[in-house]
Amino acid sequence: MRILHADRDSQKPSRCKKGVHSTMNVYPIPDPGKRKRIEEETQAGLSVCWTCSTCDSECPVFRATGRLRPQKIVRMANLGFLNDLISLPEIWYCLTCRRCNQVCPNLVKPAPLVRFLRYEAIRQNLFSWEKYSQYRNIFSRFQRVRWHAAEKCLHGEMPTLSPELWHRWLDTPLEALQGEITLGKYPPSEEFKDAAKMSGTTACLNCSECSNFCPIVFERSVFDPQWIFRMVNLGQELEILASPSIWLCIGCERCTEACGEQVKGHLVIQRLQELALKEGIVDRGFPFRWKKAQETIYPFFLEEIDTLLGADPV
Ligand code: SF4
Ligand code: SF4
Ligand code: SF4
Repeated sequence: MRILHADRDSQKPSRCKKGVHSTMNVYPIPDPGKRKRIEEETQAGLSVCWTCSTCDSECPVFRATGRLRPQKIVRMANLGFLNDLISLPEIWYCLTCRRCNQVCPNLVKPAPLVRFLRYEAIRQNLFSWEKYSQYRNIFSRFQRVRWHAAEKCLHGEMPTLSPELWHRWLDTPLEALQGEITLGKYPPSEEFKDAAKMSGTTACLNCSECSNFCPIVFERSVFDPQWIFRMVNLGQELEILASPSIWLCIGCERCTEACGEQVKGHLVIQRLQELALKEGIVDRGFPFRWKKAQETIYPFFLEEIDTLLGADPV
């Protein structure tokens, strides 16, 4: 697979440590035909991008690592650089959270562009289905690492991550919750009940459509919005507010869009996070530690993807 690096897309051809050549032209020439095709396939409104970089500043991967810039991907698409785009490792760094779509002032949608580029990379045999399955596996196990990091932060620790700990967290499944849930042990507060009412969780049928659409659901013991809504409906305030799981949500709103009963899943999780802070279950320093933790763990995640792609380390 040809690899171009996020910070190496200068106009000079280069050779990486493993002998892979960049094929970026010395003087890249825009390709209107490919640009038209990308626009038709994605319907992403790319041509109205004014390169403001709002999408970059809201992208969780950019914020944690500086290594995924949706604005750059949109710009390259507008120049018709399809062949170069499908070789970029960045298209595999994306979490498909669609935050970039939500914040663009011009309603450009970088997320479907990334999806199209991945599809095109697979279609052109730059990325095999076997590799794709390995990629999904990394993505799945990465959520375990996020859960452990959130747990450390909840206990007041600032996680430092060695390669050994990264692999231990990555490779060890979380144990499922044991024991019975005792209802009514601690009656929920009025604010907790308001959060459920405001987001309509009481209408939840437990159909799991939210979980099917959530991009970070892989293992129920790590994260599952349907489980969270169930706990809310059962009034398990303390258990859910103290759980690391509520901090794994990336706020993409897919659960809300998927729900046939109009439960606003992303809103209830956001409210649970606010309540956890307000009620002192989570200390005031937690948001800072959690932000720092993300900055620590995401580079390991990207390195894992680079290894899968066969790219040389950044
Ligand atoms: S936020 Fe929209 S207009 Fe701004 S750089 Fe991103 S895609 Fe372009
Ligand atoms: S979908 Fe999310 S992770 Fe992907 S480029 Fe957009 S903001 Fe970044
Ligand atoms: S907003 Fe909903 S779909 Fe998105 S990560 Fe959170 S729970 Fe999952």
